[in-house]
Amino acid sequence: MKLRNHLRTYLSLLLTLVLFYQQPHAQTDTQAASDRLDKATIHQALLDLTNPWTVMCVAAHPDDEDGSTLTILRRKYGVHTVSLFSTFGEGGQNAVGPELYEQLGVIRARETMAAAEVQGSEPHFLGFRDFGFSKSAEETFRAWGEKELLRRMVLQIRLLRPDVIITNHDTTSGHGHHQATGRTVLQAFDAAADPKQFPEQLSQAGVWQVQRLFVRSRGQTDASTPTVTLDPNETDPVRGITYAQQALEGLHKHATQGPWPKTVPAGGARPIRYGLVRQATSAPPLPANAKTPLDGLSLPAAEAEKLTPPTIENKPLTEFLDRRLELLVSLLNAHRRGVFTAAKEIVDTDPQRFKLMSSRLDKAIAAVSGASVGLVSDSDALVPGEDSRLNAVVANAGVAEIQIKQLNFRGLGTEMKLNAADKILPGTETSAEVKVVTPKTLALTVPAAEHLYDGRLFGEPLTVEAELMIEGVSFVVTNETNREVAPEIEIVDLDPSPYVITPATSQKPLEFKVKLKNHLASDFHGLLRVSGQSLETGREINIPATASETENLVVRSPLVLGAPNQDLHVDITVDLPNPKEPIAKRSVPLVYAEALVVGGRKVGYIPSTDQTLERSLAALGVDATKLTVDDIAKANLSTYNTIIIDNRGYQAHPELIELNSRLLKFVEDGGTLLVFYHRTGEWNPDEKNGRPQLAPYPIILDDERVTQEDAPVLFLQPKHPLLNFPNRITQKDFANWVQERGLYFPKEWDSHYTAILSTHDAGEPPLRGGLLVAPYGRGNYIYTSYVWYRQLRAGLPGGYRMFANLISYGRRKEK
Ligand SMILES: [Zn+2]
Repeated sequence: MKLRNHLRTYLSLLLTLVLFYQQPHAQTDTQAASDRLDKATIHQALLDLTNPWTVMCVAAHPDDEDGSTLTILRRKYGVHTVSLFSTFGEGGQNAVGPELYEQLGVIRARETMAAAEVQGSEPHFLGFRDFGFSKSAEETFRAWGEKELLRRMVLQIRLLRPDVIITNHDTTSGHGHHQATGRTVLQAFDAAADPKQFPEQLSQAGVWQVQRLFVRSRGQTDASTPTVTLDPNETDPVRGITYAQQALEGLHKHATQGPWPKTVPAGGARPIRYGLVRQATSAPPLPANAKTPLDGLSLPAAEAEKLTPPTIENKPLTEFLDRRLELLVSLLNAHRRGVFTAAKEIVDTDPQRFKLMSSRLDKAIAAVSGASVGLVSDSDALVPGEDSRLNAVVANAGVAEIQIKQLNFRGLGTEMKLNAADKILPGTETSAEVKVVTPKTLALTVPAAEHLYDGRLFGEPLTVEAELMIEGVSFVVTNETNREVAPEIEIVDLDPSPYVITPATSQKPLEFKVKLKNHLASDFHGLLRVSGQSLETGREINIPATASETENLVVRSPLVLGAPNQDLHVDITVDLPNPKEPIAKRSVPLVYAEALVVGGRKVGYIPSTDQTLERSLAALGVDATKLTVDDIAKANLSTYNTIIIDNRGYQAHPELIELNSRLLKFVEDGGTLLVFYHRTGEWNPDEKNGRPQLAPYPIILDDERVTQEDAPVLFLQPKHPLLNFPNRITQKDFANWVQERGLYFPKEWDSHYTAILSTHDAGEPPLRGGLLVAPYGRGNYIYTSYVWYRQLRAGLPGGYRMFANLISYGRRKEK
């Protein structure tokens, strides 16, 4: 019976194949590339059938995952790999764009998804708030809750059921988030297996015993700790590049955290070494020459037998990549034989592993037969109350006829069978309309930054599931995609917000730039209004279907400011001509900062990645010009009194290093050069990379930070003009700071500099180099490690007052 079946399948598929290949088709470059991709996909699907193990990598932030090991385990061995991140990384810096805080978290979550795509892993997030750099696990536990961190981590371990956990984090070094994550994973290892821990999770997840826990070792490990070393420099025969190169490609997806090395070092990436720090009592010992952290583990015999991968002539299926027909026959037969299924009593001991492997078999059949499903729509978002206009597509890119037994849609609170054709011929696709209205009550998912922690960050999940059949064997192909849920009209961006006013600008009209997106399939005609603080003005707008437009909104009536410290804001709304409820609304805080700049000052500035300098200078009413690298090379800089180099400016514009003599000449001739913070490795002299000392007198940076926003600030030179002119700076100007005081503080500086301020985190020695000023030639040079830009962005009056003093400092000598 079995043999007859086999033969019938083989002959019938062969016939289709012959017919298919008689049609002429040109082999183009794109086709060659897509063939290789196709080959890698099929190879991965087949390799996945040989490995029933799951490895989890635990990390504090996006980019802390061990991309190399994740890549090796999946791409070389077919291990099911998942990564678990404590945060979305929103407290970090942004090397490529203006987004910070929750907006940065959204980007970093997406970067993590893209990196995981390269690594072949599956990312999960615990969703703790990344409140910026912290120096101890205790500080992190205070913010997150020590038990809450353990609870969420245990739940994910119980749900994802890893056999082995790896982490880059130890319990004592680096960022407090790293230490807290490193400490908690040790506890979670035991807690996940203990039914007395978090018993309320058991109905959802059940207990789970992880077999081994490894911590990355970078220094010496004591000889009693068993270790495993992985070499990422081996070439992946399927993809033609090394695993280290693939991992670096993944790392590049974390672009906001760059710059990353462009290539793997010439001598190869360093081997990766892990020390075994916990193991289950029943776990076999790690073999002395283990190649992976899984080596030596085995499943109970009854289970292992049922999870034996299919073969052809006793050889792994991956050896038959060019023989698609034989592969398909072998997979279909394996399915008929019931591979990866077992009697209930065996499955019940380890249901998730059987589920994983069965779904991997279905995926392999889909990959080899060229079957796929997808969901397409002509708009990128779902609008509550509107028809959702979706189409489910089933495609057959293979050589065998595929029958569609069932096509289902799940999502938007409903589940439905779709009307589809009953078969698809090779090289064709068929689609079925999904007739569903997006419920009026469905919660929005935009702006994404407001949904970082509520589980709606990635949008509304929509699933298409097809039960397909080839030669009497049925298999399931699933596609889950996410769609944003958006209002009819969305205020995508509003600039500036907060709106800062100073004495020089308080009488000027308010000007807002409002970026709107019409999510409807029809034109929108309505009103854009501003109201509040006794202002009331608006104008008509017209936005074509599905278009985005930026509208200027100018408010000419003077602003009436109430008593100081009163909550000031205006509302920007989009209304229909006869408004009941506004369709979209955002509040813009108004800030009045008593910050004065010396009259007649002309300022040039070189922004790095955001518009903080531009907006702050505008708020101060300063005559300011945005400068390019080209301007620094060619323009007459002597027309400026002050030039500002933004945070990490020499990193954002490496050409400035070559042009530094022009900047120093500007100072020599009487200008004030104000340089904001740089990272140690972007600033300190580095002969190998051709970077000289950039300041006129040496300044050497260290990695020291002051992370407490309320750390005491001592005025070392209380009479210095920087603290007195034109604005008298007091302790009040350092109140209510956001995120931190500063970072990468200088450890050494030349005696020409005067140190103005000192600050330090509790229990640490004072850092006196955060604001340094020196006369040079006829001008002045200022370097500062304080995070003025975060205070300026947040609309902190003290930040504006000090910034005004910095740009007012020094006077160009009359010629
Ligand atoms: Zn980190």
